[in-house]
Amino acid sequence: MEETKRVILVHYHEIGLKGHNRSAFEKRLQRNLEALLHAYPVHEMRRISGRILIELADGIGAEEAFACARFVARVPGVARVSTGYKVERELDVMYEAAERALLDAGAFETFKVQARRAHTDFETNSMEMNQLVGAYLCEHFPDKKVRMKDPDVQVCVEVIQDASYIYAFSLRGVGGLPVGVSGRLCCLLSSGIDSPVALWQMARRGAICIGVHFSGRPETSDASEFLVSDIADVLHETGCIAKVYTVPLGTYQREISLYAPPKLRVILYRRLMMKVSAAIARHERAGALVTGESLGQVASQTLENIVCTDASVDMPILRPLIGTDKQRIIELSQELGTYDISTQDAPDCCTLFMPRSPETHGRLDEVVEAESRFPIDQWVSELVAAAEVRTFGK
Ligand code: ATP
Ligand code: MG
Repeated sequence: MEETKRVILVHYHEIGLKGHNRSAFEKRLQRNLEALLHAYPVHEMRRISGRILIELADGIGAEEAFACARFVARVPGVARVSTGYKVERELDVMYEAAERALLDAGAFETFKVQARRAHTDFETNSMEMNQLVGAYLCEHFPDKKVRMKDPDVQVCVEVIQDASYIYAFSLRGVGGLPVGVSGRLCCLLSSGIDSPVALWQMARRGAICIGVHFSGRPETSDASEFLVSDIADVLHETGCIAKVYTVPLGTYQREISLYAPPKLRVILYRRLMMKVSAAIARHERAGALVTGESLGQVASQTLENIVCTDASVDMPILRPLIGTDKQRIIELSQELGTYDISTQDAPDCCTLFMPRSPETHGRLDEVVEAESRFPIDQWVSELVAAAEVRTFGK
């Protein structure tokens, strides 16, 4: 089989993707994959018939191809990924490739052939291909059974343009939209479980996400900064984070803790974080802020307190996890790969100067009154100036 090449086919099927949107989506997904796959043995990448075709370098083995497919499956915008072979449009060659693809796919008892002909200039139609390839495989795997409904493996045979693509190994992708088609967002990123998941959700809706982390420095160690940096590394693997700003908030929290009513501290810290994040967002041309808040999860996340936080900035605050249960958020953070980092303990600005009983039903007028005793605008400028930024990729 001289003309055999291992390939990866990237499928996407965002419902409602039409016209100009569709081509912007495809171009962006391809560009993102090109940027992310530099460590993998890719020979060429291009779009064919509603998929992205990745031709792997010659001599690549099944394991390497599967590893690459597993990686591709985690990239936002990828609905499904398959790996198999690109061969000539000759039935004999296609039969052999189908046999190889089936052998690669691992243990199975039942299978089915799914043929597709994107070009009618190929003389055998899809029905005939199903039968012919099916008959060949039955002969070569006499103890395996054909099953039309829910087979263990599906052998796909597709004739597209001047070649045929044959694969039996497919994985479900993370889906969503490719990063870069939905604008820019500033995400408040702690080292906790929730906010990395919130950022990931928005990246999976196509947003370019810029993290903003508030550390308790110089009042605490920089442990939370290291954890956030590890979290950002995980998000960066699949192109989900563009930058991280780290803002040392400790001194300012100390001021608030000394002079504001204890009950209101948490709301005041939170409003200061929003104001600094909004200033960074304006600088970054980002259109909204994102937090990992979930309604009622902790004292500060009541409806009243959300109203008090929202009123601190004239920019939308998106809360993708607002209606998500903690258990589900934990599962998502395990899927993302940040759970083990987030469960390590690190004091950040939120654990610093916590009052014994934080306000759960903040009243905006009281909050604004308490805040007016501090030079907030000046603080925001100082904090933005003190922010350190780490940029990913490029
Ligand atoms: P998380 O698990 O994301 O830390 P949490 O359950 O600890 O959230 P809160 O402490 O009320 O809840 O924080 C709510 C949201 O505020 C976080 O999801 C995050 O978006 C933002 N936030 C909290 N602390 C910080 C911080 N130190 N730096 C940046 N953002 C923060
Ligand atoms: Mg937290």
